[in-house]
Amino acid sequence: MAEYRSKVLIIGSGPAGYTAGIYAARAGLAPLLISGSEVGGQLTSSPEIENYPGFNQSSSTLELMDIMQKQAMHFGVKIINDTIVETDFQHRPFECVSANHNIFLAHSVIIATGSSAKWLDISSETKFRGHGISACATCDGFFYRNQDVAVIGGGNSAAEEAVYLTNFAHSVTLIHRRDTLRADKILQDKLRKNPKITIKYNSVVEEFIGEDDPLLLQALKIRNIKNDKTETISAAGAFVAVGHQPNTRLFEGQLQLDAKGYITTAPDSCATSIEGVFAAGDVKDPIFRQAIIAAGSGAQAAIEAGRFLQH
Ligand code: NAP
Repeated sequence: MAEYRSKVLIIGSGPAGYTAGIYAARAGLAPLLISGSEVGGQLTSSPEIENYPGFNQSSSTLELMDIMQKQAMHFGVKIINDTIVETDFQHRPFECVSANHNIFLAHSVIIATGSSAKWLDISSETKFRGHGISACATCDGFFYRNQDVAVIGGGNSAAEEAVYLTNFAHSVTLIHRRDTLRADKILQDKLRKNPKITIKYNSVVEEFIGEDDPLLLQALKIRNIKNDKTETISAAGAFVAVGHQPNTRLFEGQLQLDAKGYITTAPDSCATSIEGVFAAGDVKDPIFRQAIIAAGSGAQAAIEAGRFLQH
């Protein structure tokens, strides 16, 4: 247990957190950055990124986040691998307590805790999570070499994961509850052009089926909601990609949140309902949720924190 004091405390190590760190460090604010349990943030659960400016070909998200971390450290951001579990924004310096029982006192705080994957919340999903069901193709796709897998969802994440999984899997079935995909057109085209991918529209997962001892996923029972027909498709792996929820439980009762739990910020600003506390990236962005936007937002939060500290 230790006590740390800083002008700026950054919570989170995604594009928003690291960019806030780079800007705050270059402004002479000697920021402390607490990485959280998912170092590099949610982006690292996508395998590749093509739309982050500065790269003329697909880049590994792990590599991108590694570069951001090194850039932040190069400018003097002190990174601590710990997770904030308690905050008190009622008085200054603000106080945050970590899972490792460290205490962080800071004159301003930048929250960049991002958002997390959602699950379908059916009982068989809970049973097979980690035993065939995953929310991260980058992490787990490799285990399904030459096997049949399924992806659930119709957004960009689902489309990217489905395409990525064709690098390993024998076949990929994309299961989507509507008759149109939400994914960008370029990704939809990639899906349709890939002979390994089959799309099941208007379909929902009723049950994940597999062996009990050891726990092992083998198939998915899916139902077509238009004609009510069910079928069982073979799948050794299932990747749930049905969106995200903001990581804001920690701030309930401390900061103003919107109906979906995202941190509310002032128009054109990262300022939260508490003066000196700023929010950046996906934790305050239910609409765009892009790495580049999160990074820009981190820069904005650091500039605003610097101006706040000058007063
Ligand atoms: P998303 O865009 O919110 O899509 C979630 C998908 O899951 C939707 O198709 C939704 O269906 C479906 N879904 C939600 N709840 C479900 C449930 N209970 N059962 C079955 N299906 C369910 O989430 P995302 O794909 O994770 O993307 C999040 C954000 O990150 C988006 O803004 C996306 O553009 C961005 N992103 C961008 C990239 C990129 O540009 N390279 C990559 C990944 C993500 P409905 O369509 O019926 O609502």
